[in-house]
Amino acid sequence: RALVAAEARADESTVEAALRPRSLAELIGQSRVRDQLGLVLEAARSRGRPPDHVLLSGPPGLGKTTLAMIIATELNAPLRVTSGPAIQHAGDLAAILSSLTEGEVLFLDEIHRMSRPAEEMLYMAMEDFRVDVVVGKGPGATAIPLEIPPFTLVGATTRSGLLPGPLRDRFGFTAHLEYYEVDELEQIVLRSAKLLDVPVTREGAREIASRSRGTPRIANRLLRRVRDYAQVRGDGVVRLETARAALALYEVDEEGLDRLDRAVLDALCRRFNGGPVGLGTLAVAVGEERETVEEVAEPFLVRKGFLARTPRGRVATQAAWRQLGLTAPADAAA
Ligand code: ADP
Repeated sequence: RALVAAEARADESTVEAALRPRSLAELIGQSRVRDQLGLVLEAARSRGRPPDHVLLSGPPGLGKTTLAMIIATELNAPLRVTSGPAIQHAGDLAAILSSLTEGEVLFLDEIHRMSRPAEEMLYMAMEDFRVDVVVGKGPGATAIPLEIPPFTLVGATTRSGLLPGPLRDRFGFTAHLEYYEVDELEQIVLRSAKLLDVPVTREGAREIASRSRGTPRIANRLLRRVRDYAQVRGDGVVRLETARAALALYEVDEEGLDRLDRAVLDALCRRFNGGPVGLGTLAVAVGEERETVEEVAEPFLVRKGFLARTPRGRVATQAAWRQLGLTAPADAAA
């Protein structure tokens, strides 16, 4: 099949694109977001006008880009993709905004990483569909108002709390994506296996699902690694035993914790005696930026009950000590 051929010559991102659900109906899980968004889109369609701006928040790999693409598809509108870090100057944003066509969907990933002047320009564009382009410098500078066609902004961020209030307030609809349940990830693995022509058993799919850190992107990636293993060392079928053996080889543990998750827990327990320890100190100990620890590792560790955020700092739970195969010292925090 075409997809299989595509995968043979492709890198991760091409495969990822091929596995993307293309409509709300095809989307697995996130039922609340799906229902709410479905309503927003249907109402907009029946009014024949672009819907309110949409903000999507949640950890990486949960489907923000996928949803942005689905929004454009469901509206039958073109999609423009850019990201906060790509917009350094207000002028960069003005260029994008002024080239939008009516009803276009603008996907702005990592919207919290845009520069301040660009952000201010965006406020105006979102609200009034107009921007002021400043020409010249110093006392001779003039602001030229520029009309832009009605468009829909779909912003994505790993944490909506990082956005300044005025920006957050300009989104008519905000959806927070949650980590997926194992059942949902199992369906995602089965669906992807079918698209990639990989034979898989229910148990095999479930094993991959339960070690995927609640994240579809990871589920799809692990499926491909287990498929490799099954082809080279097995009979090509992804079964429970193949999944277990392959995932052990790739050092994915039973809880699905990845290298960063484990490093955070390890530092918390071994170096800081279970905490409490401040985010900044913890980040330095694992050699990562505090944002990465806070937005990528911590939400999953909190959800798994391994880490607690307290007013005095981060604290390891009993489960964290057990996970590392250690006994919590008597004076440990939690
Ligand atoms: P994000 O933008 O949040 O980092 P993506 O939208 O890029 O995440 O999703 C990552 C991958 O996970 C995509 O390739 C897509 O195939 C898959 N995926 C995400 N959400 C779902 C879902 N609800 N159902 C099936 N696959 C999904």
